[in-house]
Amino acid sequence: MKALRYLDPNQLSLEDVKEPVVRNGEVLLKVRACGICGSDVHGALGLTGRRIPPMTMGHEFTAEVVELGMDAAKFKVGDGVIVQPINFCGECINCEQGLTNMCLNKKFFGVLTVDGAMAEYVAVPEKLLYKLPEGTSYEVGALAEPYAVAYGAVKKLEDYEGKSVLIIGAGAIGLCVLQLVKLKNPKQIIVSDLSDARLKVAKEFGADHTINPKNEDYMEAIERYTDGVMIDISIEAVGVQPTANQSIKSLRVGGTSIWVGMSQKEMEINMQDIVCSAREVLGSFNYTHEEFGEVVDIIGNGKMEADKLISKVVSLKEAPQAFDDLHRRPDEFIKIIIDPTK
Ligand SMILES: [Zn+2]
Ligand SMILES: [Zn+2]
Repeated sequence: MKALRYLDPNQLSLEDVKEPVVRNGEVLLKVRACGICGSDVHGALGLTGRRIPPMTMGHEFTAEVVELGMDAAKFKVGDGVIVQPINFCGECINCEQGLTNMCLNKKFFGVLTVDGAMAEYVAVPEKLLYKLPEGTSYEVGALAEPYAVAYGAVKKLEDYEGKSVLIIGAGAIGLCVLQLVKLKNPKQIIVSDLSDARLKVAKEFGADHTINPKNEDYMEAIERYTDGVMIDISIEAVGVQPTANQSIKSLRVGGTSIWVGMSQKEMEINMQDIVCSAREVLGSFNYTHEEFGEVVDIIGNGKMEADKLISKVVSLKEAPQAFDDLHRRPDEFIKIIIDPTK
């Protein structure tokens, strides 16, 4: 079968590899759609250490069941499925608490050395599969993963009603966060980003105000939009020093920032901005298996304008170019989907 192999930093190559062997409890899947994540783009440049070559990336995917392994009986051949890509053990101390995203023995499809779905076929334990909802396309289904990342972050707090919410970063995750927060009746949503093109998309998704720090003073804009009250909840979906500090400084006294971005490992933060104003910072990492299922339902119910996030669909052969496009022209694309059957 064909697979897009990551061989070395900056080197993605379409190769013939062996079809995966289906083990007990697994099903063989024919991949129908696989999103290219920002973490794949940065991983393929060798910047993060989160993709260790040689390997096959791809963790945002939907597929068709083509073969059932021993003891796999939940699905039948021909079913469409969405894959929750964090393979968890179900037995460790974190799994016991339902925190499958923190499983001590987890294997994340398409991350580190684990082969993922930028290939024609992949074998996956059936416990990781959700049925593709009726009326949801394979392409939109593949967005369940980034929506789940956003969902896990938004769910860190319960009450958004009547609150001023700031979303920092209008990439795929920030835009998913925006749509999910909108369902919760906030007073207003402000989105900031360095790209006017992305901010325009945020407006189309219902942002009340946008801020581009390249063009205006950040804090002044926050004060203006909140009548000096400042932000109740900020969600940081970038993960670099300037935006991390914005997420704290923009808050009112006692406000909360949820951090889901993590581009930069170490940075300087003004600790007094947190301590002296009794603000909170909450970290959010991916999603539990259960949360992923909740997102599949939300997408299946048509509550998200998910298809608007898809900039284009490419074949495996066109995928290296798509990686390059996402890296060099980030303004022009939100989510590019690979369809290995193309
Ligand atoms: Zn991702
Ligand atoms: Zn576990």
